[in-house]
Amino acid sequence: MGSGRVVLVGAGPGDPDLITLRGLRWLRQAEVVIYDQLASPALLDEAPPTALLIFAGKATGHHCIAQSAINTLLIHHAEAGRLVVRLKGGDPFVFGRGGEEVLACRGAGIPVEVVPGVSSAVAVPAAAGIPVTHRGLSSSFAVVTGHEDPDKTTAGVDWDRLATGVDTLVILMGIATLPLIAARLIAAGRDPATPAAVIERGLTAAQRVVTGTLADIAERAARLASPAVIVIGEVVSLHYSPPRHSPASRGVRSPNKGASVPVGDR
Ligand code: SAH
Repeated sequence: MGSGRVVLVGAGPGDPDLITLRGLRWLRQAEVVIYDQLASPALLDEAPPTALLIFAGKATGHHCIAQSAINTLLIHHAEAGRLVVRLKGGDPFVFGRGGEEVLACRGAGIPVEVVPGVSSAVAVPAAAGIPVTHRGLSSSFAVVTGHEDPDKTTAGVDWDRLATGVDTLVILMGIATLPLIAARLIAAGRDPATPAAVIERGLTAAQRVVTGTLADIAERAARLASPAVIVIGEVVSLHYSPPRHSPASRGVRSPNKGASVPVGDR
């Protein structure tokens, strides 16, 4: 016991350098890293070579480690006095089940801290040049799970109210249900001509973007797969392909002068 603790660290989406400085500092001190499939694998190189790395995401099939087993792992290693970093894609509290892990740790008397992350809900649209709000076009956005069947009567998402109640809809985990979601939104009164986009593997070298309207986006994006973010709203009309330059690839900083020396700048 003693110094054991759990730190939930948001890894950001896609690109490994979207982790926060605070998250990176914790990761570099970790004794145990429990990570999921959305956290960039390159980030694991930042953990000390002696750290125990445990994968807790989806394996090749549909098997996941049960949430209760992850909670047990976190508590077990922290109770043994270790600094446990729970590395999660995006932000730990945006559809990341981070809240459950915090409750489990607190219930076991383990000190737990949360380091927020850059969420795919905002950053992945931005990677396609789409701002989720924009003066005159959108003064609200909602982040919604598409994981549930929108026609299920017990579903937690109120699609009927969201259809016309929010300017920009950002849907995570919705690629499989997109045809149903689009039909449902149109039936609930959203204009079928509303611009829509799907961004697959945002902020990675494999990023793909498909745009269309609410009426045809499901068909146009039929070949895209998870992970993908769906954006529906007038802001999609602003989309473009922003150039991607990582500061790390632009130059190295001279330790003496603080000047930047371009290396391999393309
Ligand atoms: N906590 C995460 C979201 C977890 S839910 C966050 O804040 O970003 C998982 C969903 O996030 C995926 O199904 C997908 O909809 C979205 N997502 C995460 N990373 C993504 C990426 N690089 N590109 C596109 N979608 C991504």
